[in-house]
Amino acid sequence: IVQMQGMNKYFGTLHVLKEIDLTVEAGEVVVIIGASGSGKSTLIRCVNGLEEFESGKLIVDGNELAPKGGNQKALTEIRKEVGMVFQQFNLFPHLTVKKNIMLAPRKVKEAPEPIANATAERLLNRVGIASQADKYPSHLSGGQQQRVAIARALAMEPKLMLFDEPTSALDPEMIGEVLDVMRELAKEGMTMMVVTHEMGFAREVADRVIYIHEGKIVEEGKPADVFDNPQNERTQAFLSRVL
Ligand code: ATP
Ligand code: MG
Repeated sequence: IVQMQGMNKYFGTLHVLKEIDLTVEAGEVVVIIGASGSGKSTLIRCVNGLEEFESGKLIVDGNELAPKGGNQKALTEIRKEVGMVFQQFNLFPHLTVKKNIMLAPRKVKEAPEPIANATAERLLNRVGIASQADKYPSHLSGGQQQRVAIARALAMEPKLMLFDEPTSALDPEMIGEVLDVMRELAKEGMTMMVVTHEMGFAREVADRVIYIHEGKIVEEGKPADVFDNPQNERTQAFLSRVL
């Protein structure tokens, strides 16, 4: 569903992504790991056009996104098909939990109120916070807010979900509840690209682990292979620090 070929991205003179080749199949869970500043966020932000890239090829579900300056016609379609969850939950503070989830389906899909409402209730159930529907985000715990953010992304029925360190801003006791929701999603067959420092989750849930070093994919494989038998010395050094 995602194809990247020879993608390069610069921030000014900084070469942040270097000749990225990456394919994600439908239903696959790909976890991206790497040191701070290695380009993980930039990589997944390119997938839904939050960052532009300078050269190379990016196709998401058949929609080809052109490099900077090119035709960005595919972006509207891609944004509809790709959901994203960030480290900061980015919920709308002035809307209740349920209204947060209904907003995009109402605005973008022009879903009728009762349908958007039913979808929101179903999703809140699914992420285990049906009882919080009418509260405002600030009255929820971080773990609950992040589950709302996941439900909000799911409300658009995405074909692909991007997660950028979804548990990094959470108190330790809340990390598990968010990872549980993600694990369920993966089991149900959602295609996911996940940046995380939760190596236990990566090992258990990922179909494939990608290690990025200074903007380059230097290692890629099944979690057992990458974690237990890393081939690249950069990966070995990184894992010895985090595992
Ligand atoms: P972290 O683990 O800290 O989140 P990361 O792997 O997600 O790091 P990126 O955020 O993708 O790294 O950043 C890659 C590089 O690009 C870093 O050197 C960063 O300073 C730089 N960078 C990121 N965003 C911008 C920006 N908007 N403008 C300029 N430089 C940026
Ligand atoms: Mg990042």
